[in-house]
Amino acid sequence: MPYPPIMHSLSRRTFVALVPAVGALGWCARAQADTLLKETDQEAIAMDYRADAGMVDAAKFPKFKPGQTCANCSLYAGDKGAASGPCGLFMFKDVTAIGWCNAWEKKA
Ligand code: SF4
Repeated sequence: MPYPPIMHSLSRRTFVALVPAVGALGWCARAQADTLLKETDQEAIAMDYRADAGMVDAAKFPKFKPGQTCANCSLYAGDKGAASGPCGLFMFKDVTAIGWCNAWEKKA
């Protein structure tokens, strides 16, 4: 059976060790791409996360001010104009750009 091209520059032991790691990276990338934080997730509940800042009850959360969204929060790392992106608070799930949570901090 012919070896894959990468085997020509790697030892068999190194190749065998890399296969699960590469597979795990692919799984992580897919899992992250498919995972959007839900308001019902425990970590979201803990931080009063709303997927739509327009749904925040300002009486219940006096810290909230109109115009605050994930997109203008210092912890948001999504691409400009994207509908969602990573948040430094929720490590493995994306948040919506129009979302909000109790940890909102103005982006510098
Ligand atoms: Fe959105 Fe900021 Fe809260 Fe993350 S920390 S969910 S970016 S408001």
